[in-house]
Amino acid sequence: MNKLFAANWKMHKTASEAKQTVAELVGLTSGKVKADREVMIIPPFTALASAGEALRGAKNFLLGAQNFYPQKQGAFTGEISPGMLLDAGASFALTGHSERRHVLGETDGVVGTKTAFGLESGLGIILCVGEKIDERKAGELRAVLERQIRAGVRDVPKDIAPEKLALAYEPVWAIGTGEVAGPKEILEAHAFVRTMLSEIFGASASEMRILYGGSVKPDNASEIIALDNVDGVLVGGASLKADEFSRIVLA
Ligand code: PEP
Repeated sequence: MNKLFAANWKMHKTASEAKQTVAELVGLTSGKVKADREVMIIPPFTALASAGEALRGAKNFLLGAQNFYPQKQGAFTGEISPGMLLDAGASFALTGHSERRHVLGETDGVVGTKTAFGLESGLGIILCVGEKIDERKAGELRAVLERQIRAGVRDVPKDIAPEKLALAYEPVWAIGTGEVAGPKEILEAHAFVRTMLSEIFGASASEMRILYGGSVKPDNASEIIALDNVDGVLVGGASLKADEFSRIVLA
């Protein structure tokens, strides 16, 4: 299974800035990315086309989207469908990112509906899960992960192709804070996520990627990526500059 290095740009970059950053990143990494690694750029909707254009032809580069609405089309002002994302060149989308859960109010139920709908529509999905600091302090790590995973994949067919569904463990207290989960914490959470996936999906769970996200930087990426059950990273802040993200991809 290829390791995935995903760049979540959140609400950053215009179309032309995205094009320039992707072009720089492709230039910096060209011919140097290990054969078992994939790089995914996840720009805002308005930069999907220009980012896609800049990565066209670059080996092992993919385009992803940050969000979608779980309907094919209709009277949903301001929303974007999975079909529109596929048409714009995205092959994956995020669901359950902590900012959508905790800033924009998406419930476990909504995340589950979106995950199943996105997959059914042909997108690959990176389902994000993770505990808040008070939940960790209260010893609720496993309970939170179990609840979010079970609800997140509630309607996903058990025979889903494992390469279409990835999980991202992103402790909320480590996102955008500079605070990184230590190896022990990452190992524990990822092993638990793998066990949950195995209970739900059986043997194919070993082929599902589990990413770590939370203040990944060039100086901690190689240690994190080498840990058991870590099949990639989801990077926010440190993915915005081509130079910094290239050092993570090449770590
Ligand atoms: C994220 O946005 O998913 C993320 C992990 O952000 P950061 O790398 O900035 O912590």
